Amino acid sequence: MAAQTADILVIGAGMAGAAAAAHLAAHGRVVVLEREAQPGYHSTGRSAALFTETYGNATVRMMTRASRAFYDAWADGFAEYPILSPRGTLIYAPPEQMPALDAAWAEMSPLDSTIRRLDGADACALVPALRPERVMAAIFEPNAMDIDVHNLHQGYLRLFRRRGGTLATDAPVTALTRRGGAWLAATPQGEFAAPVVVNAAGAWADAVAALAGLPPIGLVPKRRTALIVAAPEGYDIRAWPMAIDAEETGYFKPEAGKLLVTPADETPVEPCDVQPEELDIAVAIDRLLQATTITVSRVERRWAGLRSFVGDKTPVAGFDPLADGFFWLAGQGGYGIMTAEGMARVTAGLIAEGAIPGDIAALGISAETLGPARFAGRR
Ligand SMILES: Cc1cc2nc3c(=O)[nH]c(=O)nc-3n(C[C@H](O)[C@H](O)[C@H](O)COP(=O)(O)OP(=O)(O)OC[C@H]3O[C@@H](n4cnc5c(N)ncnc54)[C@H](O)[C@@H]3O)c2cc1C
Repeated sequence: MAAQTADILVIGAGMAGAAAAAHLAAHGRVVVLEREAQPGYHSTGRSAALFTETYGNATVRMMTRASRAFYDAWADGFAEYPILSPRGTLIYAPPEQMPALDAAWAEMSPLDSTIRRLDGADACALVPALRPERVMAAIFEPNAMDIDVHNLHQGYLRLFRRRGGTLATDAPVTALTRRGGAWLAATPQGEFAAPVVVNAAGAWADAVAALAGLPPIGLVPKRRTALIVAAPEGYDIRAWPMAIDAEETGYFKPEAGKLLVTPADETPVEPCDVQPEELDIAVAIDRLLQATTITVSRVERRWAGLRSFVGDKTPVAGFDPLADGFFWLAGQGGYGIMTAEGMARVTAGLIAEGAIPGDIAALGISAETLGPARFAGRR
């Protein structure tokens, strides 16, 4: 059977691939190839759903900022509900973590004038279950938001289809070859060919590059565990901010009337359908019990997901200098939801116009900052 042709193939229909495909479909014929039956099955469906413009390095923060206006403007027929809703983040410090809190304050306070330093009593007033003796001081970031991941992901997939794009699920790419000026992708659903391929394969991005004969960019998938427990009795948790200790050894936040808890683990693993480990669940609960007066009688749900980082923790978007038409969109780490719109616009800008959109460039983002030329073997 002849290969199905397109202008651009996108490998992976998680948040990165879906957002990029929606933007790219405004410029040409785009086919998305997704291994799973459900596009959000891996990292995208397993996140903690927080949006904050103070998280990550300076480039990550700029890409998050670059995404905000689009998320705020959800009403343009893109989504069914608001994408962002108020949550806030409370970074609290037990006595031994005061140096980390001071460092966080020095870094965060210039970024947003609404960020406040709180004493222990004011912090505990925001999250009354915190043990007062474990909260010497805190930083409150009122502008941190919950981000509705499913709503956003589905919005991108709908926009993609509306613009004429094709999504093939159950379509793992098993071979990738360059022939006659096009990439030929082999899948169980048949062959697909296009001059440009976007590698948005999440934790598998290095594996997809290997299919194309390219060296890795050094992506390291790191497992993070999350669980859901019942809301603690006697508290109205709805307005609680996300509460995280200054050394980031665990956090908890309200999630659909219950509490999401994580030990903020970062265990390097091979890319896989990652599952939670009993020890990490136990650590998460232990840290929650140490920090708060909450009791946990039952874990209602548990999962783990992969946060995939390159060495400098800056996400990667750009053509590989080693291969014509091979575009990387990878390494989103723990920020791939909040930065998705900005990264997708950079991707569409570089592929369709040969340049980063002007408003994002004005934030100090260049093709070099994000591009894969910074990795070994490509300089
Ligand atoms: C516990 C946890 C909490 C997090 N919290 C947040 C948060 O609060 N805020 C935030 O912004 N981010 C958060 N993240 C990070 C965020 O979830 C990721 O950065 C984001 O989902 C990455 O999206 P992606 O599309 O790159 O990856 P994925 O969603 O994993 O998508 C990649 C897709 O590629 C497909 N694929 C792989 N190989 C192939 C192949 N050969 N052929 C076809 N398809 C292929 C996979 O099946 C997969 O669907 C969190 C992550 C975890 C695990």
